[in-house]
Amino acid sequence: MDETTKHLNGNARDAALEQIATRLAIRAERGRRFAELTSLRVGGAIDWVVSPETETQAAALVYELDQARIGWRALGSGSNILADDGEHHYVVLSLKELKGELEFNGEFVSVPAGYSLPRLCIDVARNGLSGIEGLGGIPGTVGGALWMNAGAYGHEIGTVTETVRVARGGKVVEIPGTDVQWNYRHTSFREGELLLGATLRLIPDDPEKIRARMEDAKSRRMATQPHGSRSAGCFFKNPPEGNLGTGRIIDELGMKGSRRGSARVSPVHANFIVTEGEGARAEDALALAEEVRERVKREHGIELEYEVELWRANEPRSSTGNDDAAGELKRKE
Ligand SMILES: Cc1cc2nc3c(=O)[nH]c(=O)nc-3n(C[C@H](O)[C@H](O)[C@H](O)COP(=O)(O)OP(=O)(O)OC[C@H]3O[C@@H](n4cnc5c(N)ncnc54)[C@H](O)[C@@H]3O)c2cc1C
Repeated sequence: MDETTKHLNGNARDAALEQIATRLAIRAERGRRFAELTSLRVGGAIDWVVSPETETQAAALVYELDQARIGWRALGSGSNILADDGEHHYVVLSLKELKGELEFNGEFVSVPAGYSLPRLCIDVARNGLSGIEGLGGIPGTVGGALWMNAGAYGHEIGTVTETVRVARGGKVVEIPGTDVQWNYRHTSFREGELLLGATLRLIPDDPEKIRARMEDAKSRRMATQPHGSRSAGCFFKNPPEGNLGTGRIIDELGMKGSRRGSARVSPVHANFIVTEGEGARAEDALALAEEVRERVKREHGIELEYEVELWRANEPRSSTGNDDAAGELKRKE
């Protein structure tokens, strides 16, 4: 099936989307740009942004979008995405309003996908629950963290995930965390799967001790990473072999501070690409990233794999971002 038959486009698509959003009482907006919705602050216009507020609403929404053959992608805080500068002709399903309330039950906590990960870390620490204090500085949603198995300072979200709630057939379905493969910044969730929430199983501990470990992780992050800059965190994964991290490899090539237009290799951490100035361009960030990859390949024979996702304008529906991009960007084995 080609894209014209697989996805509904144009006016018919717009009319169908408006009907679905009205029926389900979900906010649907036009005129938004990725530059407002991602932490790199670059990226072009989006046809529609729809923002469900409950898990049941979100499950019904994706079912109806799929039935109507309307292409969509899920967006959390946009802190791991480089969206290109073109016009993105698909629906962005924003999860940030799906933040609800935490539900505590002993060592378990149930959390909606749109809940802020830093907020969650603070809230569970206050309730004397340990196991995710290393994740407190990751500026995304719980859904985004689950999608790519976010991790830092010895903690990964997959390790503590008891169950995940996903949208299937218009319903909220709970699956065991053990059914998911949790790898290094990659999971077995599939394209078109919307994550609605999760139940984490944590470890009771003294809130003061947990808070101290969170502070420790925070100061290590502050000492080694740029703060107050527009970034998407580490741009590339660490190579699977060898002891050198990607930041160190790029730093030793003397590339800290290298610039392409509005993009720069951070002078603080060489695996961070930051954007600067009004009207910064995704194409600058991508060109700089490719320059880094070429240097690393030429001088070390290492093919750096992107950790950020490239979202291309006019691409068919995919909520994984794991397709090829620029013929190069690959995240999956
Ligand atoms: C300063 C900084 C520091 C960072 N440090 C770290 C770090 O230490 N460790 C780390 O792992 N990451 C780090 N990151 C990267 C990023 O914050 C994480 O990847 C985060 O988990 C992404 O969450 P998000 O809500 O922003 O997801 P987004 O960037 O919005 O989306 C990322 C992917 O998840 C998918 N997705 C999001 N929500 C859902 C959902 N509900 N259902 C289905 N798919 C969904 C999207 O479609 C996309 O494919 C850092 C980023 C920044 C800017």
